[in-house]
Amino acid sequence: MTDDTYHGPQLGIVAFPLSSRAWRQLPALDRIIMRSERAGPCVVFTGRKTRDGYGRMTLGGSEVSTHRIAWEALVGPIPDGMTIDHLCRNRSCWWPDHLRVVEKKINTLDGYGLTAQNARKERCRFGHKYRRAVYPSGRPYRTCDPCARRRASESRARKKEKR
Ligand SMILES: [Zn+2]
Ligand SMILES: [Zn+2]
Repeated sequence: MTDDTYHGPQLGIVAFPLSSRAWRQLPALDRIIMRSERAGPCVVFTGRKTRDGYGRMTLGGSEVSTHRIAWEALVGPIPDGMTIDHLCRNRSCWWPDHLRVVEKKINTLDGYGLTAQNARKERCRFGHKYRRAVYPSGRPYRTCDPCARRRASESRARKKEKR
């Protein structure tokens, strides 16, 4: 029984034997999924890694980190001057919920240090700059407009579904 139709990627399974040319033509995220496995809450790349543990692959002739490819495919572009930080501290993990966008200089600080914690508060995990806002009760909070808009449209969509 052979089925050489491509039905999309499965975690940790290179679904059918591919020539290296065909393999390179698959979407990069699919190739990452096929070469990853669950590790507790993380989804880790099992292919090639850098010496310090980041998943790597060749994309269009250049070396790219797998967590960056996954973020751009699943979340969106990484703004200039920003980089991806692992909240889970598992460098081969690419699960977007475990990642966030930070300014490049923040990522070089110890992730648990006070300076890093304060710097982190300036932006949401998608890298949007926070602004100060005040609840009707008078309590101040931080928010970012792009995420507030996204959450509002998501909750509108949910309400629509329920109807
Ligand atoms: Zn993780
Ligand atoms: Zn945001």
